[in-house]
Amino acid sequence: MAIVVQKYGGTSVGDVDRMKRVADRIVRTHRDGNQVVVVVSAMGKTTDELVDMASRISERPPERELDILLTSGERISMSLLAMALQDRGVAAKSFTGSQAGIITDAVHGKARILDITPGRVQEALDGGNVVIVAGFQGVSQDTKDITTLGRGGSDTTAVALAAALDADVCEIYTDVDGVFTADPRIVPSARKLEHVSYEEMLELAAQGAKVLMVRSVEFGRNHGVRIHVRSSFSYTTGTLVGPQEDNVEDAIISGVAHDTSEAKVTIQAVPDRPGVAARLFSALAEATINIDMIVQNVSADGRTDISFTLPRGETDKARGVLEPLADEVGAGGVLVDPDIAKVSLVGAGMKTHPGVAAKMFGALSAAGVNIEMISTSTIRVSVVVSKDDVETAVQAVHGVFGLGDDAPMEVS
Ligand code: ADP
Ligand code: ASP
Ligand code: MG
Repeated sequence: MAIVVQKYGGTSVGDVDRMKRVADRIVRTHRDGNQVVVVVSAMGKTTDELVDMASRISERPPERELDILLTSGERISMSLLAMALQDRGVAAKSFTGSQAGIITDAVHGKARILDITPGRVQEALDGGNVVIVAGFQGVSQDTKDITTLGRGGSDTTAVALAAALDADVCEIYTDVDGVFTADPRIVPSARKLEHVSYEEMLELAAQGAKVLMVRSVEFGRNHGVRIHVRSSFSYTTGTLVGPQEDNVEDAIISGVAHDTSEAKVTIQAVPDRPGVAARLFSALAEATINIDMIVQNVSADGRTDISFTLPRGETDKARGVLEPLADEVGAGGVLVDPDIAKVSLVGAGMKTHPGVAAKMFGALSAAGVNIEMISTSTIRVSVVVSKDDVETAVQAVHGVFGLGDDAPMEVS
């Protein structure tokens, strides 16, 4: 019997009727002779509403309590879905992340899965049940407290469970038909990709293509899980995320991703001597703040500006760490710009094609978009632009590389 893991996102279970339709689809997979494990997200905008409610009760909600609150959204979905299945004559049992054996570290709000002990899940499957697991949550090995995996974390629950159960496929059901060459909500001509390699998907996800959480792709790659991203509103084939296909030539560009969730911090007039950057960034790391792009200017008169990007929600924490430290090392001050966006071009083929960055910058310049920061990897070029320019920038870059349905691909 094949094991199929299916994950349904918030829109797919957004109301009771959608929940019932999801139940019908699960019944179909179960009756086709598969063992089915379902990971569910909270209904619709429930998580946002819970975050909002917490912020209206407390200026800084304690992380432990916030995590318990947020996991309740997924618990509502899991129990309702189990009821819908039982109503359809299919045995079903729901489990919280903790009950399903999702063991994490103790970092609230962005816990990492350390281990999965799916004994109860396996037992329930062997007993003929469809198993429903609440996404996005686990339990800390050390503190025994309930943790959440970060926004979009149900994807990670699903792929990690698929790896632990050695499932045949992990299907990610969402509100678009698959992974596109850009967010189809911003670029209407974006094209669905039939296949995307783990490496490219990792870059797209890390750069903001929120259709998959980046950690889920890491699990997929590390454990060889076949991930099928598809729509819960149709039966069409979506996008397969898997190993690079042999004998298929790498597309030069696979897509454009954008991210409006970051802010830029600049530490001004930092003394240019060995050890200063290490001190600043060690302090940020100790505060578990994830840093993204870092740019250091050429120094003038023994001083230099250092800028980096980070999740916007962590700017206050970063300011708290950096301001006293800036004083201590004799730097000028700490500036925060919350109104930025990052636009990234991703493609495995760019390794062997010069001129990709030049063409991207040319398109941005022709569209009147100013570039504030640049960073690259072997298969990616990213720029930071003003948040107001994000749509123009994504459309310009997508257009110049002919990624849409209506133009042929060409790279000079
Ligand atoms: P779910 O609630 O199902 O997890 P998400 O909202 O997290 O869904 O992710 C799906 C959304 O990701 C889509 O509605 C789409 O707007 C957005 N998205 C961004 N980039 C892409 C992309 N390259 N391909 C597909 N969808 C994308
Ligand atoms: N409900 C959580 C969120 O909105 C987790 C998820 O949907 O993946 O981020
Ligand atoms: Mg999601």
